[in-house]
Amino acid sequence: MLLDALLPDDAAGSAAADAWALIEALYPLCRSLTGDGVRQTLDRIGERIPLIRTEVPSGTPAYDWEIPREWNIRDAWIADVGPGGNGRRVVDFRAHNLHVMGYSVPVRQMMTLAELQPYLHSLPDRPDWIPYRTSYYREQWGFCLRHRDRERLGPGPYEVVIDADLAPGHLSYAESVIPGQGESDDEVLVYTHTCHPSLANDNLSGIAVAVELARALHHAPTKPRLTWRFIFGPGTIGSLAWLSRNEERLGRVRAGLVLGLLGDPGVLHYKHSRRGDTLTDRAAAHVLRGTATHENAEAKLLDFEPYGYDERQFCSPGFDLPMGRLTRSPNSTYAEYHTSADDLTLIRAAQLASALQTLARLASVIDANRTPLNLSPKGEPRLGKRGLYGSVGGGAPGAFEHALLWVLNQADGSRDLLAIAERARLPFEQVEQAASALERAGLLRTLERTEAAPDSESRKKGPPP
Ligand code: ZN
Repeated sequence: MLLDALLPDDAAGSAAADAWALIEALYPLCRSLTGDGVRQTLDRIGERIPLIRTEVPSGTPAYDWEIPREWNIRDAWIADVGPGGNGRRVVDFRAHNLHVMGYSVPVRQMMTLAELQPYLHSLPDRPDWIPYRTSYYREQWGFCLRHRDRERLGPGPYEVVIDADLAPGHLSYAESVIPGQGESDDEVLVYTHTCHPSLANDNLSGIAVAVELARALHHAPTKPRLTWRFIFGPGTIGSLAWLSRNEERLGRVRAGLVLGLLGDPGVLHYKHSRRGDTLTDRAAAHVLRGTATHENAEAKLLDFEPYGYDERQFCSPGFDLPMGRLTRSPNSTYAEYHTSADDLTLIRAAQLASALQTLARLASVIDANRTPLNLSPKGEPRLGKRGLYGSVGGGAPGAFEHALLWVLNQADGSRDLLAIAERARLPFEQVEQAASALERAGLLRTLERTEAAPDSESRKKGPPP
């Protein structure tokens, strides 16, 4: 069945408003790979959708990596204690959490400006923006500030404080699972990263859109055929931690998406999986650029490359999962990327809404795709007597009849509905509705994934005795 009521126009608008409210609530939290900012983020997500939460202890191996120590920060500042400085905070974590390099080790010392300079990061060509910097896997510390403020700093001395803990703890991730109604336990994975502090498009738009898609699936009037598993975890180490704990599940993954950067003004970009021809890739190409569906005429399809977000791990050769990535502007391709200018003014509710609608349609196609088999393949079955065809002859077939003919003709067990839609140059939804009608009339059945297509020789001879 098609999840056609997943996010109709009015529902997409209110889902985008809810996504916006979640982004506003999450924006002030100081997230990182680990720590209480991530837990508070998962708490807020858990108010919207059911979550299964996992805490992985520091030091746990994940392939060539290991779970780092947990980082929690309470406060940080650089205070001018020189003549005339009056102890004023010239850089203050409480004003913006991007001011501290993520995973900075604790510091408390007096320094001159010259001593401090190597620990400062700013953007000379964007003097009003604070850069986002991290040092996850090398012990160091640093402050990020507007270049304009940096140029105003006097000789000091400065009191430099980072009041943080970097200690054995846990990495937190969470899953929301919508069980499929079918007999199979095939799954679709959706991953979005949760490790960026006050950045709106990069991480919060992906989180909020994933939450709303999951919520729509949880409440869909028609239950999905496949099991949908949404994972909220930090970039790289989060997907590696999840993969290392779920290898037995990976054989069931039929499709999947990494989501992020979905609120900026850019057009949608789908990046192919490593294999390039998976169900996810074919469904995305049909929905984003299909010949019969011009709604996203501006959307772009990108070839796979090994740089990006967590598709790097899911599409590494040891897994090679059928996972693509959906973003608006890809990472590193817009000026505000990884700076304080990636705030709520960069993103638009209308962009969240249209990303959600495209995703809902993509999810419906992935979920409803199946391989049909014509049970009456010798000649055309009589559709009129089954109430499927206009009773008055002579006119050209309507759109529905046209789709019925295509499905019957192509349903030899070698093609799925998506391939039929592409060959017929029809929207997937029309082909799916025709297939459902033919199934109800007993003229079609779905081949199980493990079932081989009947070869043409045996079909010519007729059904087995
Ligand atoms: Zn990022």
